[in-house]
Amino acid sequence: MSAVTAGARPSPAGPDDSGAGRGRHGARPFRVPVTTLRKRIGSTRRLEVQGRVEGLATLGVSVPEGAPVRADLELCSDPGGITATGTVTAAWEGECRRCGGTVAGRATSAVRERIVPEDSAEEDEDAYRMTADELDLEPLVRDAVLLELPLAPLCSGTCLGLCPRCGTNWNESPCDCRPLADPRWAALDQLRDPSG
Ligand SMILES: [Zn+2]
Ligand SMILES: [Zn+2]
Repeated sequence: MSAVTAGARPSPAGPDDSGAGRGRHGARPFRVPVTTLRKRIGSTRRLEVQGRVEGLATLGVSVPEGAPVRADLELCSDPGGITATGTVTAAWEGECRRCGGTVAGRATSAVRERIVPEDSAEEDEDAYRMTADELDLEPLVRDAVLLELPLAPLCSGTCLGLCPRCGTNWNESPCDCRPLADPRWAALDQLRDPSG
């Protein structure tokens, strides 16, 4: 965990920013004081924070309860606001879309987002908002993770799935049902199956 302030115009560290990134792992780890950063236009600050974000889930895939989301960001101030660049990562768990078995992975999202003051006239619908002295990164972090959660994961690219007739898990054993091949679905599966 480190919080480094590096700017073209060094000046005494403000009392507000010191120690952010450390000692901020309580209930709101993603709340970052920004007064000093915004005072020094053009300065950047490296931020590594992690914490829990509630309710990170899509259909069948979720970040396990208690698993931290990690943000490794560089905040750069300019006259209109702050640009956050870096990565957000989180572990996820889900159900294989073919056999229903457990699948786990790690989502890594490349971030480049704009953050402007609440009262900013900047017409950027996608920009996140901050107060005069504090930036809450949680909405940004949440969106970044949700975007990277897989829609329909596979336990393995070669998962055989379940028999549609008797429900036997074909990864574990074959069954005696006659094959129910539908070439159209097989072709679609091939197309949607680049990564697993
Ligand atoms: Zn499977
Ligand atoms: Zn069967």
